[in-house]
Amino acid sequence: MLGVSFNRKKVKLKKLLGIRARLALLALILVAPLMLERARSLEGTRTRQVAAVSVELKDLAQRSANTLREVISSVETILKSTAFIRASVGGAARSCDLLRASLPVNLPWIRSLSIAGGDGRVHCSTQSTLVGQNLSDRDSFKKAQQTRDFVFSDFLLAKSDDTPIMIAAYPVSAIDDDADSVVVAGVDLNWVSKFISNLGGRPGISAVMVDSAGVVLAAPEDQADVVGRALNTLPMLFPIAKRVVGSDQAEGASSFTAPDGSERTVDFSRISGTQSHLIVSVDEAKVSADINREIRSAYLQLGLVCLFVLLGALVAAEKLIIRPIETIAAMAQRFGQGEWSARTARSRLPAEFVPLARALNAMAAQLAERERELIATNDRLTVMASIDMLSGLANRRGFQSRLDFEWMKAQQYHSELSLLMIDVDHFKLFNDTYGHPEGDACLSRLGETLAAIAAETMGFAGRYGGEEFCLLLPNTDASRALEIGELVRAAVQDLAMPHATSSHQAVTVSVGVASAMPNDSQHPGDLIEAADAALYAAKRQGRNAVVEHGLGEPGLGPATDGGGPIAMAS
Ligand code: GH3
Ligand code: MG
Ligand code: MG
Repeated sequence: MLGVSFNRKKVKLKKLLGIRARLALLALILVAPLMLERARSLEGTRTRQVAAVSVELKDLAQRSANTLREVISSVETILKSTAFIRASVGGAARSCDLLRASLPVNLPWIRSLSIAGGDGRVHCSTQSTLVGQNLSDRDSFKKAQQTRDFVFSDFLLAKSDDTPIMIAAYPVSAIDDDADSVVVAGVDLNWVSKFISNLGGRPGISAVMVDSAGVVLAAPEDQADVVGRALNTLPMLFPIAKRVVGSDQAEGASSFTAPDGSERTVDFSRISGTQSHLIVSVDEAKVSADINREIRSAYLQLGLVCLFVLLGALVAAEKLIIRPIETIAAMAQRFGQGEWSARTARSRLPAEFVPLARALNAMAAQLAERERELIATNDRLTVMASIDMLSGLANRRGFQSRLDFEWMKAQQYHSELSLLMIDVDHFKLFNDTYGHPEGDACLSRLGETLAAIAAETMGFAGRYGGEEFCLLLPNTDASRALEIGELVRAAVQDLAMPHATSSHQAVTVSVGVASAMPNDSQHPGDLIEAADAALYAAKRQGRNAVVEHGLGEPGLGPATDGGGPIAMAS
């Protein structure tokens, strides 16, 4: 049982792994490595690209911080030079004129430049609205006075219009010990925001600048609303707040999943000379969106390639293998049904199948020739099987089939059919007297004689068995049959073949004649029986005699003397 089910499974598997499936598999085996290699290279490109972005970011953060530092340093330079002018040019009015004239137009981030007295009141400013304002409460102002050095404030709102600014302060006392005034610059953070906007320039990358308290000083234009807010209130930057705010770390990086689910990598670096940090954040998904799209389209392409390869393999298998095999199989099937004339159109087959088709065609031609020979041999055998070799007449089998045929014909045309049964008289004695070979020669001569009479009378002669012959006479009535019976008897006697042990001194025959008008109620065998009965009667009458027995008449069966309608000739 186990063996049977295993075998079935094997057959099913074989069906499943038909030639089409195998070719498709082969095509896949050929394409798959290419496909995998391409996929692997794309994945590698993605990894490299993400890594490159990370490196680039670090660099970007560094460079940005440096650039900002340069900005700050330019502010420092302006402040120092203004302080120098203030210290060296006596008189506030003169220095104010110089101050207004000295503010370079190519430093757009300096919103205002002012000189405040030791009490914090602004004497002069490039922005007239600032004149008279008191800056003594500003930390940067106080710190500059105390430290006598350059001070950069944290983020604050401009007193004049509440816009985000930073204050840079430099005390003139740093140059001239006696001076108590402080040069103050308002640094426009909007400009820094624009600068930061340009930092990334790529989707998924954004940068903000925060002060020491973690308040956003500048952000890209599209995120302007975060300016002024603390880092730890911004969902996208909250995880990094702790590391940036109040830390001495000059730079660092961190990766986390933002509340919106995006994977973010954040790099921060301190802008030297200040407590501000530049934070560059990268949304990995957005950064790798392009390569991801490329990978998706590559996978799609590969899928399509595989599909086309598969379809190609299937079409090729169908056209180059399956269909030729089916054509040849159909031809072989027609051969099997004996249609030897079937031939395959070789022009429609692939070259590899042509020798097979040619061989099959040749085989079919040979088999057709053999069949023709076989039929001829069979015909010869059939004829031989129906002929008696000694007499040259039909044998009993041949006679029987001819009788059936003539019976049917006579029945169809409503004609009469007669039969003569002819038996050699005392033939046993002949054999005993002259020997068996002489007996055979005698039978042979009798055969010739009968054949001649059959030809004359349109009859059919046969050797019924032993020394018994028969003559079938179509379209012959009883009286004519009786005449022909007499003709046979006389012809044999006229041969005058010596038979010393016969009372007639010559070979003679007895003839039983029967005639019939065949119909459904009678059979050919009835005619034979009647002729046999008549022959029996002829023997009883002394031999060398002809007796007729009508078929269907009473007395059918072995005739008895005087019994039945016996007609007698000679
Ligand atoms: P009847 O007149 O009553 O017919 O006597 P018969 O001797 O002819 O008849 P029987 O049936 O007694 O003998 C027939 C003989 O015919 C016996 C057999 O040896 C002989 N015979 C049969 N076939 C052949 C044959 O092919 N060749 C030869 N030589 N003799 C044959
Ligand atoms: Mg006999
Ligand atoms: Mg006999």
